[in-house]
Amino acid sequence: MADDRFNRSGSRSSKTFKPKKNIPEGTHQYDLMKHAAATLGSGNLRLAVMLPDGEDQNEWVAVNTVDFFNQINMLYGTITEFCTEESCPIMSAGPKYEYHWADGQTVKKPIKCSAPKYIDYLMTWVQDQLDDENLFPSKIGVPFPRNFLSIAKTILKRLFRVYAHIYHQHFPEVVQLGEEAHLNTSFKHFIYFVQEFSLIDRRELAPLQELIDKLANKEGR
Ligand SMILES: [Zn+2]
Repeated sequence: MADDRFNRSGSRSSKTFKPKKNIPEGTHQYDLMKHAAATLGSGNLRLAVMLPDGEDQNEWVAVNTVDFFNQINMLYGTITEFCTEESCPIMSAGPKYEYHWADGQTVKKPIKCSAPKYIDYLMTWVQDQLDDENLFPSKIGVPFPRNFLSIAKTILKRLFRVYAHIYHQHFPEVVQLGEEAHLNTSFKHFIYFVQEFSLIDRRELAPLQELIDKLANKEGR
């Protein structure tokens, strides 16, 4: 959704960390994605995140989850050179929160690793989920799995941690790159969306609670 905004200012800010996930043109999900982009432009973010009339909630959550993956992928892509083994030996979100990687499937015992490693694991894992046709069906008439919402919740919970790490450990660099407005708009959209459908537990949001409270009190964008 935000591609041209990111591309306008030069080559560096257009790079992504992982390949962008595309929703195929001609599908209903593609139309939904276009609809989402159009309503976002209208200015009322609370309204823009609501399920459009007559649409399937799973499909709406799926399309938006792909969009958030792409946004975070781009935002993190702009600061990868600052997020290194040396600068970020642990995956943290401020002094009080530290994350260890486990996906519950192939990695069951949490691994203590650097932030760039953790985010690489995380984004690769999300990409694998989004590419799995059984979890995120893109073909018309193929139903979403019964546990789709719980899968989406886990994905969004993990994606939140990338925002949390960027805000806590890399905000000065984001400002320096002039990406501050992109980050804030993207995060606000993300928060409004997860609040609308109660997708992330409050305690998971704790590392950015202050910022979230600030955003929630300001209507519109
Ligand atoms: Zn970092």
